[in-house]
This record gives sequence, C-alpha cells and structure tokens, in this order.
Amino acid sequence: MSTSHNNPILSAVSALVEPKADSSPADNAVTGHDHVRTHAHEGVKPTFMVQAVNLLAVVVPFIGFIVAAVLLWGIGFSWLHLSLMVAMYLLSAVGITIGYHRLFTHRAFETSRTLKAVFAILGSMAVEGPLLKWVAMHRRHHQHSDEEHDPHSPHLHGEGLWGVVTGLFHAHVGWIFDRDPANLERYVGDLSKDKVLNYISRTFPLWVLVGLLIPTILGGLISMTWTGALLGLVWGGFARIFLVHHVTWSINSVCHLWGSKDFESHDESRNNFIFGVLAMGEGWHNNHHAFPTSARHGLKWWQFDASYYIIAGMERVGLASKVRLPSEQTMAAKAIKSAAS
Ligand SMILES: [Zn+2]
Ligand SMILES: [Zn+2]
Repeated sequence: MSTSHNNPILSAVSALVEPKADSSPADNAVTGHDHVRTHAHEGVKPTFMVQAVNLLAVVVPFIGFIVAAVLLWGIGFSWLHLSLMVAMYLLSAVGITIGYHRLFTHRAFETSRTLKAVFAILGSMAVEGPLLKWVAMHRRHHQHSDEEHDPHSPHLHGEGLWGVVTGLFHAHVGWIFDRDPANLERYVGDLSKDKVLNYISRTFPLWVLVGLLIPTILGGLISMTWTGALLGLVWGGFARIFLVHHVTWSINSVCHLWGSKDFESHDESRNNFIFGVLAMGEGWHNNHHAFPTSARHGLKWWQFDASYYIIAGMERVGLASKVRLPSEQTMAAKAIKSAAS
C-alpha cells in the first residue's frame, strides 16, 4: 500500500494558501486514489457552541424518539405519522445517498442545476451538516480510509474488546466531536465555485428548519388539530432524524467492520446486506471503496441498491447523464477470488 506521507507534490499542495479550486486533493478523493496524501496535524478546535449544537443534534432526536415511543404508542402513533416518518426518511436519506454522496462527493453522474439544488436541500434536511463540510470530510475518508487521517475509522483505537468498542463509538458518532482538520475547504474547491450550492451549504440551519416544518404542517393540516401538528414534528421530524442518523452513521462504523470483502480496496470496508437495504444501497461499502465513482454500489443483481435504481430511472427519463459504472474488466481486476483468500 502506498504511504507517501512525505510526497513532495503533496507538500507543495499543502503549502498553497489558496489552492486552485480543482486541485489534486479533491480530485483524488473523488476517485479514491490514495497516492496523494495530505498533512493536517494542526486541527481547528471547534468552539463550545459548535460542540453544543453537535451534541444536541445527536442527543435531542434520540430523546425525542424514546419519549414519543413510550408516551404515544397506541395513542399518538398512527398510519398518518408512520407515513410522514417514512416519507421524510426516504427524502432526506436520498438527499444524502444520491445527493451529498454519489452526486456531490464522487461525481458519479450529472444532473441539472435545479435537481442539484433539490438534492443539496434534501441532504441538508438529514441534519448531517452543511453540504461542503460533509463532502470535504467524506473525500478525506476515502483518501485515508482506515489510516491515520481517516475522520471516522472504527479501527486504530487499540487492541481487544475495549479497542473495538471505542472504535465503534468513534466511527458511529464520536468523530463528530473531533477537531475539524485544517484546510478542509481544499477538498471542495469544485463545489464552492457553484454559487447556489455554496448558498445552500451556508444556509444549512434554514433547510433543517424546513425539514422539521414540512411534517409539522402536514400533520396539522391532515388531522386539522394542533396535536396532529406536534405529532407530525415528533415522528416526521425528530424520530426520522434519529433513524437517518443512526443508519447512515452505521455505514462508517458497521460497514468498516462487519460483512464480506469482495474487492481489493486498501481498507477495511465491507459489504453488509442489512445496511445495503436500510441505507438505500450504501451498505455495499466494500464495492464503493473499490469503485468510488460508480453510481451503482450494489454491483450484483441481488445487491439491493435503491439509490442506484432511482439514478437509473432518472437517466431513463433524461434527468441524469454521464452515469458512471465500473467496466467488467475493472471489476475482474479487483475481485478477490473467494477460493484463493
Ligand atoms: Zn468507508
Ligand atoms: Zn464515498
């Protein structure tokens, strides 16, 4: 494995105060090429405010879910609230898997400016952070997967049971409380040039609010009661955020630990059936690390990949183009023969 931490090209890139918008770190991260490594030992410590908001974003939805489930089960949970929760889950999950991840981070396909804005907004509603920061962190994850500078590897946390437990916690949610690595913006030069995407990223709290208001208003209007509005907020808002968070973060933790490894990928990524289904195709994570720019993560016919089915549907009706897929030869070259391993 290439560990070119003293790469002269990289030092040159790191030394740039304002690197070119499409400089190599972003490009290499999009493609998953790991031969250019970056140095970011000096992190920027997040302020107390940022930490507090992060903590609230993680804890409040969880508390909302428990409280709602205990108090309202059989009384305040109906088909209406279930539908609102599922619909909002699908919309915000698609915003992350198709938008934030496959479209913006890996440029796995192209689409119109309007649809880009829609996906950026839907992704923001998942409350996983502003677009540009999410993409920067994720490109960094691909560049350094399961190595020193991976922002959320479940590995590298020591031996034994304690190492696994702390590693899992770190990969699932603990990493959010780490310092932001310096120069994260170097990874998103391509996106920050786009005025609309930049605006949506900067106004992230607004879209979070919109994502909470939609189920609240629908719940109120359909039931024509204030209780209906409140239950819409609880199930379509908080409970849904809880579910999206824990499913998508499980990709970082669970899918670097549990599942099968079908392709060479220089890291510990795994294909996991449960999260393949739950996370709309994102659980075929070893496939994804092996072929990061592929719009399709479930590469076998039985590997359910809802996000790809949507992208393929969009392509059929002319809403998506340049949909990238690995060729048979590339797949054969990286395949791990189960008999040999
Ligand atoms: Zn990964
Ligand atoms: Zn990725």
